[in-house]
Amino acid sequence: MTEHTLTVAGVAVDPRHWIGGERVASAGTFTDVSPIDGRALGEIARGTPAEAAAAVAAAKAAFPAWAATPRAERARILHAIADGVEKRLEELAIVETADNGALLRSHRRGVMPRVAHNFRFFADWSLTLDHEDFETRGHTNHVSWDPAGPCVLITPWNAPLMLATWKLAPALAAGNTVVLKPAEWSPLTASLLADIAAEAGLPAGVLNVVQGYGSEIGDALTSHPDVRRISFTGSVPTARRIAASAAAHLTPLSLELGGKSPLLVFADADLDLAVDLAVEQYDNAGQVCLAATRILVEETVAEEFTRRFVAKAGALVQGDPREEATDIGPTIHPRQLEKIDGFVRRAVEAGARVVVGGHRRDERYYAPTLLTEVAQDSEIVQEEVFGPVLTLQTFADEDEAVQLADDTRFGLAATLVTGDRERADRVTGRLTAGTVWVNCFFVRDLKAPFGGSRHSGVGREGGTWSFDFYCDLKNTVTAPKGWNDHG
Ligand code: NAD
Repeated sequence: MTEHTLTVAGVAVDPRHWIGGERVASAGTFTDVSPIDGRALGEIARGTPAEAAAAVAAAKAAFPAWAATPRAERARILHAIADGVEKRLEELAIVETADNGALLRSHRRGVMPRVAHNFRFFADWSLTLDHEDFETRGHTNHVSWDPAGPCVLITPWNAPLMLATWKLAPALAAGNTVVLKPAEWSPLTASLLADIAAEAGLPAGVLNVVQGYGSEIGDALTSHPDVRRISFTGSVPTARRIAASAAAHLTPLSLELGGKSPLLVFADADLDLAVDLAVEQYDNAGQVCLAATRILVEETVAEEFTRRFVAKAGALVQGDPREEATDIGPTIHPRQLEKIDGFVRRAVEAGARVVVGGHRRDERYYAPTLLTEVAQDSEIVQEEVFGPVLTLQTFADEDEAVQLADDTRFGLAATLVTGDRERADRVTGRLTAGTVWVNCFFVRDLKAPFGGSRHSGVGREGGTWSFDFYCDLKNTVTAPKGWNDHG
């Protein structure tokens, strides 16, 4: 504990940067506020461009030794980080909930175990990357997966530690060093992770954490000539800025962005399953990139679907995310809630009918909402709300279902509910989406490719695809002759 240490829900958190294996105070600070009740959690380092550059310099200095560390040794350290996450799982869960307002029970049972798994999975996967050498006219081809260099990882607030470690684990396993910039609305667990990584034996400078506003330090990170990869999860407008900034040095980018994913319910579907999957879209108060926020239902079952949906949604408990019984917590910030409310008000003015919710409960909690009678080209159907707001439209046949489902500028995911396997195959083949779930939702395997098409992103992560991004692949072609020993 130092004079800087914050105590958040009984857990000690250092709010300073973590650069080159040391805590570094910033010239200024900003106040981190809990979305649960608006209470200030503490003052956090407000990075400057010079501090961001110092973090990149630390990552650069640490790179040669980490890149030269055998993969198995790097994997051992990542497993030790996973052990540390598991040991402090309860603390991480409590702090994350205080900081971003997502359900404590989800953090305990789903998210934090997944954080540990991110490290274990990519540590093990890094050991499987080697290809067999192959011959070309007697010459040997050898493919190697070389670490790329210092990487900048920029992450959002809706699943802070899960998304940070989904990038961090493969970046480190590949032999890169990292500067992580967490979102300013949820900075705390990244700081705890720095402690855990240091305790696990990760050498100084391999992981650096800079806190602060993206608008103030983003450019210093993304236009830095020594940065070899930028991996970003967040919104489309920020992605545009980052892409422009990265253009200075042609720094390769991975972009995981927003969505407006459809959930298609066909008349041959198990309707109870369809309703369960639809109501699940309110998880994390709708602040999920993958959320299927556009429900498309075949006309003949729309009335019955809506009746069952209204009953099920009406039973959801909204309130304090620390309570076991709560299903839906707060919105991240009153500013986000204003945005959500604006979307709904404009939709209603444009003719939408409110079936469920449609209003704020107070300045932090927005009632789960279902709107119908919405036009395909309207803002509420085309733009990501990032709140607990779903729309319901109907379709007459499969062609219309596909046409409506595919008609946005996004392409992150799609969910189909149907009892007909052939229909599932046909429709899946016609949709533009990085992930399609059939009669299920949110089932993820870390070896599967993950990412979006169109404005939902650039590139894929997961399994080997993560290493494709975080490595410089090299093919070495060796001739059979020319050796001193054999002439
Ligand atoms: P955001 O774009 O506002 O911020 C994301 C991060 O970018 C933050 O850390 C922020 O500080 C930083 N940033 C802001 N300006 C920057 C700049 N000029 N340069 C560099 N960094 C900058 O997004 P958000 O509101 O935090 O997150 C919500 C968005 O993230 C939604 O659109 C959601 O769909 C998307 N998201 C996508 C995925 C996915 O995997 N596809 C996952 C979660 C969230």
